[in-house]
Amino acid sequence: MNGAARLFRWIYESEPDGVWAAPGRVNLIGEHTDYNDGLVLPFALQERTLAAIKQRDDGLIRICSSQNPNEIIGIPTKELAPGWPAGWSGYVAGVPWALETDIGFDVAIDSSVPVGSGLSSSAALICAVGLGLNELFGLGFSRRELARRTHLTENEYVGAPTGGMDQIASLLCIEGHAILYDVRADSVDQIHFDPIGAGFEVVVVDTMVRHGHAGGEYAARREDCELSAAKLGVATLRDVAYADLDSALDKLGDEQLIKRTRHVVTENQRVLDTAAALDADDWPAVGELLTAAHTSIRDDFEASCVELDIAVDMLLDSGALGARMTGGGFGGAAIALVATEKSESARRTVRSVFADNGFVPPHIFTVVPSAGATRIA
Ligand code: ADP
Ligand code: MG
Repeated sequence: MNGAARLFRWIYESEPDGVWAAPGRVNLIGEHTDYNDGLVLPFALQERTLAAIKQRDDGLIRICSSQNPNEIIGIPTKELAPGWPAGWSGYVAGVPWALETDIGFDVAIDSSVPVGSGLSSSAALICAVGLGLNELFGLGFSRRELARRTHLTENEYVGAPTGGMDQIASLLCIEGHAILYDVRADSVDQIHFDPIGAGFEVVVVDTMVRHGHAGGEYAARREDCELSAAKLGVATLRDVAYADLDSALDKLGDEQLIKRTRHVVTENQRVLDTAAALDADDWPAVGELLTAAHTSIRDDFEASCVELDIAVDMLLDSGALGARMTGGGFGGAAIALVATEKSESARRTVRSVFADNGFVPPHIFTVVPSAGATRIA
């Protein structure tokens, strides 16, 4: 029996109608490009959030989660409104709101996605509930439409200024693939990505750093990008072609805006180059692109932190083909592409260097490109 069904029985003393699972994701490459209408290349994890759901006929929603064991939240669907309830249950309450249904339900959540590490436990939670309500209530939304609507849950209901990548990855990924998502075109391409088959592992190092200032810094980077686009007379930095980068940078004049713009424009190109390298089975090229992306986000976008930089350096010193921070930055996780036989010693090195520096012990694990959300019971 899965943890969500068990919690459901324990709390509500009845059987759920069904259980749905949605994965977290790692963004292989393409950081801080999504809100610039650019390109990203995420893949779904085997780590999943489970939602056990049962329909109610009185328009009430009740929500509980193994990860917040002391709370059971109750809300009438008629009272759903953005921002309410505040906190974790808003991620669930905002789903029926975005799906425009006033049918009530009981839901129990259990998750193996690390919360707050940049692996998108938030979208995993929203998408597990979203797919569940869509199927249970027969709402008939396509996965693309579900991704669009569940993105509204996070943006407008919870009020988190995220791009749409997380919901796209959680709902549309397929096993052994990453998704090349072009935000401007709203197009999705499945790119074959099977590191294990090629003798590699994707190692994740969660630094456990959760910087309190991350939200403010994220907003500041967005503003820099918007300001750069405005100065260049374009809608977003996506409109700056890689071939025209130098002349765009000359026009900007301001050192900080030059650096931000250079990161976004070169990062979009690296996403395309990574997809091409994967198509060509050129793993060393993939590794080089990952490391180049880290250098760019560290030096030009200034969204890394010392723990991430040390993790990346140690992974590379241990023989990784490439390594970079992933997610919004200022903490969270780094990823590396490591030959399977070097993975164990790479992990040991990172652990011991973190200990030598007096850092919190990192959480290190391997991720496998996995399928998107599905019903499991
Ligand atoms: P990330 O998506 O990188 O894990 P976020 O800050 O976007 O980090 O989302 C984390 C938030 O999502 C948590 O603080 C909590 O409010 C909510 N959340 C995610 N997973 C769960 C869960 N299993 N149970 C309860 N709340 C969760
Ligand atoms: Mg999130």
